[in-house]
Amino acid sequence: MNLTRNPLVDHFRCPESLGPVQLDRNDAPTATVAQVNGNGDYGPTLPLDPAQLIDDLRLERYPLAAESKAALSKPQAIRSLYYALRPLMPVAIRKWAQRTYLSRWQSLQFPKWPVDCTVEEILEKLMVRTIEAQGLDKVPFLWFWPNGKKSCVLVTHDVETRSGRDFTSKLMDLDDQHGIKSSFQVIPNGGYEVTAACLAEIRGRGFEINVHDLKHDGSLFCNHDGFLRQVRQINEYGKQWGVSGFRAGVMYRVQEWFDALDFQYDMSVPNVATLEPQRGGCCTVFPYFNGDLLEIPLTTTQDYTLFHILGDYSTGIWQRQIELIGRINGLISFIVHPDYVIEDRARRSYVALLGLLAGLKDRYELWIATPGELNSWWRARDQTNLVKRGAEWSIEGPAGRQARLAYASVDRDHLVFEVESDCLKNVSMPPLSVRRPG
Ligand SMILES: [Zn+2]
Repeated sequence: MNLTRNPLVDHFRCPESLGPVQLDRNDAPTATVAQVNGNGDYGPTLPLDPAQLIDDLRLERYPLAAESKAALSKPQAIRSLYYALRPLMPVAIRKWAQRTYLSRWQSLQFPKWPVDCTVEEILEKLMVRTIEAQGLDKVPFLWFWPNGKKSCVLVTHDVETRSGRDFTSKLMDLDDQHGIKSSFQVIPNGGYEVTAACLAEIRGRGFEINVHDLKHDGSLFCNHDGFLRQVRQINEYGKQWGVSGFRAGVMYRVQEWFDALDFQYDMSVPNVATLEPQRGGCCTVFPYFNGDLLEIPLTTTQDYTLFHILGDYSTGIWQRQIELIGRINGLISFIVHPDYVIEDRARRSYVALLGLLAGLKDRYELWIATPGELNSWWRARDQTNLVKRGAEWSIEGPAGRQARLAYASVDRDHLVFEVESDCLKNVSMPPLSVRRPG
């Protein structure tokens, strides 16, 4: 399965006339080649096919991710038992089990925690080589975000239990107080009732709803037949609720099966899954198409992991991730569960994050969107082209007036961007003052 046609045109929406350029092995990040090479797809001397390499990273076709994916089906009995007992397990035992699994996580080199931008590093190298090879000054492209915003922020909430569902109103109050509209992922056949009134309240307040798994019992990806059976019901709920997005429980995923999802976008793939039950990660901080489905990756650490695995209630790790992603103008996406921020201490951390985002929104021109808005924008941008009319570049397509012409040029082997109607030469976000957790 190949997703990427022309990596530069797909990502930058630059003119098709840029010829394809090949990378050699020295151009790709060393760790990446070593890791992906485990697949045996790349010989020691052949030039790398960047489209293939990018697909392998995004679809998690590399050894660490493949092993973790295979484990989804193997210890089915053990996992079912864990899920059956989970509601009965004291939190301390759950945390102990999870920490034991996660021990030595710091020794994992790839993908790189807390943010992995390997796909963007390859794209940068490819664009630099293209500009140099063709003797260009700069390459025009369609800026990543509407109205020239510097980065995109998504706040999403997965509703896990009845107490989480009952907390959604208060959570919307908190988000609203900071001028943020978020999305709620709701489990159709989980441990709580989904009432029409509950869905109507979320929508009525301008928040968004997506389908979250089917039963959330860890069984969705055990085998392909079972997956297809559950997905038929999941698709039905999507239609019944009139929603366009999906996220699997526990960020479990087999991206090769996603073509059965009758949704416009999925949000089940982490950027770096070092601290997730299923390891791997798509190594990108931008949305990408998986067939007709838009994949919107999770690019920051989940609240549960932060509070209960790392025991960190500061916003230090989130700030660090915002800074790393902001530097390359990527997508900054969060999962915060209503279930886990009912408690005071966790709620204070979340409110601190909201305050941080609200402050950055104006200072650094962040686009705070819902997943549905991002999906609409990314699809419109994908259908919009730069066309040369005389001496000028003209933007033609559905992204229309929100789209901005930008230029990429090379400065000491790195790309720098310039956005039209934006006098800043360097549009990446300046470093925040980051408090590193001790
Ligand atoms: Zn969940």
